[in-house]
Amino acid sequence: MLSSFKPTWMVQSIYHISPEKLKKHGINTILTDLDNTLIPWNNATGTEKVIKWIDKLHSYGIKVIVVSNNDPKRVRVAVKDLQLPFVSHALKPLGIGIKKTLKSYHLKKNQVVMVGDQLMTDIWAANNCGIASIWVKPLKSSDMLPTKINRYFEAIVYKMLQNKYSDLKWKEDID
Ligand SMILES: [Mg+2]
Repeated sequence: MLSSFKPTWMVQSIYHISPEKLKKHGINTILTDLDNTLIPWNNATGTEKVIKWIDKLHSYGIKVIVVSNNDPKRVRVAVKDLQLPFVSHALKPLGIGIKKTLKSYHLKKNQVVMVGDQLMTDIWAANNCGIASIWVKPLKSSDMLPTKINRYFEAIVYKMLQNKYSDLKWKEDID
């Protein structure tokens, strides 16, 4: 049960994830959470920094697809500047949104990774689908209300994970 919440990697932020390392693992597509992973939850659109990161990934032939629980209106505005394909109402931690994305974009499970700032939604959803995952620290330390509740459980689960898996540590990039 606890393994359902175990991320494959823990990385400081999405900006730390390098295309070189992803390629090494045969990953050609990043499925990314939106709020507090790609852009701060209380920001309408993306920053210069995130645009640069996405450009770099694209230059390596790595696709980036947003998989968000948020509503289509919010997601559409947020990704407009980033020009990314997206799936909204993804219903994480259920695997529905991720599975839909894999099917629509003809993606193989071993060639994708889910990136997100929440164990209780993003990482759990990735494990429910049998795909790799990267847990990142949230861009903003504050959260919207439903996330605040998730963070309470996340803290408990994280403690249990730390006790069980001594190799689970925050890193500067994926291994
Ligand atoms: Mg998030």
